Amino acid sequence: MSNRFFKKNNATTIVNKLVTKASLEHNLIEEGDKILIAVSGGKDSTVLAYALSSVRKAIKAKYELAAIHISSDFCSCCKKLSLKTLLENWDIPFYDIFVPVIARLKPNEKMNCYWCSTQRRGALIDYAMKNNFNKIALGHHLDDIIETFFMNMTSSGRLTGMPVRLTYKKYPVTLIRPLSYLEERQIITCADENGFLKAACTCPYGRNSNRMVIRKRIADFTGGSGSVKRRIYNALASI
Ligand code: SF4
Repeated sequence: MSNRFFKKNNATTIVNKLVTKASLEHNLIEEGDKILIAVSGGKDSTVLAYALSSVRKAIKAKYELAAIHISSDFCSCCKKLSLKTLLENWDIPFYDIFVPVIARLKPNEKMNCYWCSTQRRGALIDYAMKNNFNKIALGHHLDDIIETFFMNMTSSGRLTGMPVRLTYKKYPVTLIRPLSYLEERQIITCADENGFLKAACTCPYGRNSNRMVIRKRIADFTGGSGSVKRRIYNALASI
């Protein structure tokens, strides 16, 4: 990936350029797509929605956008009304569904992030299929992708990660991750530049998760260097 975008542009321009670049290089957005954006109220998915509504000219395809917030037992932090207003300003309709994550646990099963995220992911795919969306856009960025790779490798011994584009064999939907070329710090700066909401996850299960441990180890390992992280990303893409 070229670093030329990082020299003189502000963060919003960088976000739009790198979202366009990822979309064109991985064919993430195609003519006639109906794209459902998973939004949490946090900075990543808000910046994702903003970028997808901003890059229409550069992508040169006609596509529809909508956003969905999946509430669960642990979602108490999201400012949904403000989020709805913000999205509708960008012509993105907003939907909200609730997934009873705890009630779905079987007797003797314990709550954990894996269970929660698979339940919410299932609900997201189900909603997309029932409402004729052919793509689901997720707000994962470069740091998430690297963390997930190291988590999978160290927890389960598998070399698997988060593809930029994933077409399911079982379902008629494709997952896309248009923020894959962006570091979290660039997304934070873009959110700050635009005054976007930055609702943080307050779920108690997230605080001590394995992800937090891996995140710290990666920060030590890379020294926070963007170019080191991008080289790791490029290495993962060539596995
Ligand atoms: S931190 Fe874990 S349990 Fe909490 S909302 Fe996120 S995925 Fe679910």
